[in-house]
Amino acid sequence: MANDDVKRCTRCVMDADVPGIRFDENGVCNFCHVHDKLERLFPTGEEGKRTLEAMAEKIRRKGRGRKYDCVVGVSGGRDTSYCLYYCKEKLGLRPLAVHFDNGWDSDVAKTNLAKVCDGLGVELHTIIMDWPESRELTNATIRACVPYIDLTDDVGIASALYRTAAKEGVRYIILSHSFREEGITPLLWNYMDARYTRALIKRFCTMPLVHFKNVDIHHMLYWILFKGIHVFNMTNYYDDVGEHVERILAERFGWIDTGQHHMDNEMFALVYYYSRHKFGFDWRIIELSAKIRTGVAAREEVLEALKEVPFFENEELVDYGLKKQGFSREEFDAILKAPNKYFTDYPSYYPLLKALRLPIKWLCRAHVVPAHAYEKYFETI
Ligand SMILES: [Zn+2]
Repeated sequence: MANDDVKRCTRCVMDADVPGIRFDENGVCNFCHVHDKLERLFPTGEEGKRTLEAMAEKIRRKGRGRKYDCVVGVSGGRDTSYCLYYCKEKLGLRPLAVHFDNGWDSDVAKTNLAKVCDGLGVELHTIIMDWPESRELTNATIRACVPYIDLTDDVGIASALYRTAAKEGVRYIILSHSFREEGITPLLWNYMDARYTRALIKRFCTMPLVHFKNVDIHHMLYWILFKGIHVFNMTNYYDDVGEHVERILAERFGWIDTGQHHMDNEMFALVYYYSRHKFGFDWRIIELSAKIRTGVAAREEVLEALKEVPFFENEELVDYGLKKQGFSREEFDAILKAPNKYFTDYPSYYPLLKALRLPIKWLCRAHVVPAHAYEKYFETI
């Protein structure tokens, strides 16, 4: 859905409708500038390799005498599978793979996960969320009319990683989010914190969530200060991303491509459809802009691609999603027509985070919390 009438960044394809976008005198957007800044902060190549080696040494030292050196979040998708392989085989770490399943994992993702963990001889812990509660929390985000409706997954992954690391006495959580591959999401499209989650549960859940474990500030303080847990975003330092990684995984483990990045989570058909029909945006704009910035895709080619609706965003998969979530079409259509909301319309910790901006920057640079959380929280709004 590339709208030709709206002003667009002269370098990537982010447009004036993206919340938090600003253009410089050359028409280049702030998301491109954030990307360039992250490129300087997290170099790949030889310098990246040196950082990874130094970090691996530190992780091994902290892991001495323990069963595992680190916890690695895995989904069965390309990037997390490769990250696990990199940890084990290239850096010689002893990882524990942790997977969170909110009930939407595709069969291909589950098979991939088993193949990669078996192939590497890595133990896998899967945390499965109680399905009625998972469904209800997702439905609460839909009823809240906010852009991102897969909050359940994001909170669940954070909770699973920290809780497993704390339980196992592991000091490092390894993430594999890549700004080069996945791009930089505007904060208004994808925000999460414990107070906001609690507010949505209180207002929009129709049943009590007994098993759900939120990730609150006091939990974070306990994990960081008393358990000494750090988060290291490894993917920031290596060049091994993109399609050639898929070939390595396929040859080595018999890993199968899900057909579309993120489709290891079957809810994405509903997520994409909802955002397009309610907010008028296409999630692919973020990832495709990243591909232009890294030279993987040409701008014109991306503009053409955006004119087409992705194959998985079809009525059949959307109906399947609605049925699984227990929504009728009428109820869902009424939500699509209701006024759009953002996290700023609900209580959240964001005012507090703004007040703590500088300490957060320090924690990001010290790899205590995810490395580019600072840019995400303060430079994309
Ligand atoms: Zn741009």
